[in-house]
Amino acid sequence: MSTTWHVLGAGSLGTLWATRLARAGLPVQLILRDKERLARYQASPGLTLVEQGLARTYPVMAQTSDSPEPIDRLLVACKAYDAPDAVAQLARRLTPNAEVILLQNGLGSQDAVATQLPQARCIFASSTEGAFRESDWRVVFAGHGFTWLGDASHPTAPLWLDDLDAAGIPHQWSTDILTRLWRKLALNCAINPLTVLYQCRNGGLQEHQCEVATLCAELAELLECCGQPAAAQDLQAEVERVIQATAANFSSMYQDVANGRRTEISYLLGHACQAALRHRLSLPHLQQLHVRLAGYLDARGLPSD
Ligand code: NAP
Repeated sequence: MSTTWHVLGAGSLGTLWATRLARAGLPVQLILRDKERLARYQASPGLTLVEQGLARTYPVMAQTSDSPEPIDRLLVACKAYDAPDAVAQLARRLTPNAEVILLQNGLGSQDAVATQLPQARCIFASSTEGAFRESDWRVVFAGHGFTWLGDASHPTAPLWLDDLDAAGIPHQWSTDILTRLWRKLALNCAINPLTVLYQCRNGGLQEHQCEVATLCAELAELLECCGQPAAAQDLQAEVERVIQATAANFSSMYQDVANGRRTEISYLLGHACQAALRHRLSLPHLQQLHVRLAGYLDARGLPSD
């Protein structure tokens, strides 16, 4: 009998994972925010995944954090700012050998969760898959991609990666997951805040090459200082490549702001600035960018943390 995948959060990524696991015949339980959300979900036919214009609905089972059932495997699919509190509500349900997979972007929330759960194995993920919520319980698979998973304190891959093969979730076990997460964070810091401040698509940053280059130099210095020299390598060249390759796209942070949603600023630019502070590293342009972005969010009534 396969171990149940408890999926915390039925948003974009949670639905993308839950539907593919369920489609492969694997046991899945969604954990929803509260009784009200559960009642609304139970009144629906289930989770719908729209892939290449084709919608299919999966009647995935659901519960709230109050359910007594023990949890052996937890997939955390909340935003970074929700993850620690959401997981804390489930701590008493985790079995002694529980594994917790963290899908959050940026850095900071993973350590906050891991500190709360010294008995659990926490596995960090970095994904280039893209999905968005069209409405409650209905998600569009917008961009095929890849997910790297790894455990900074234990190099052995878990056996349940077979479940991901069965579910058709492209993935690879990574022994340098922190390097991947830092690299993605640096790319994010060099691109996303500027697209918000200049109100442009990624390609619009081609007109701000000097500013991007200065940020890349500071970010590379930070990565070196944080013991992540591999994440610093050729950073500027990759940032420029990403800007070109995704010129027509709006960054995720741009979309969050445009839709009046809270951003993950604290786990991206905020985390970078805090790390710089800890290392007594002066990165004036990065710090200035953080101040400008926080001010921009404040002015629009959005949280700046
Ligand atoms: P999302 O669509 O906003 O989904 C987050 C879900 O978490 C929501 O359904 C929310 O519930 C739920 N949630 C929050 N607190 C909860 C709690 N205490 N109990 C139960 N559920 C709770 O976010 P997302 O886009 O999937 O992003 C999740 C993470 O993946 C982020 O860190 C993001 O940066 C990262 N990521 C996303 C993508 C993507 O394409 N979407 C790609 C790569 C990485 P409600 O529905 O009740 O609000």
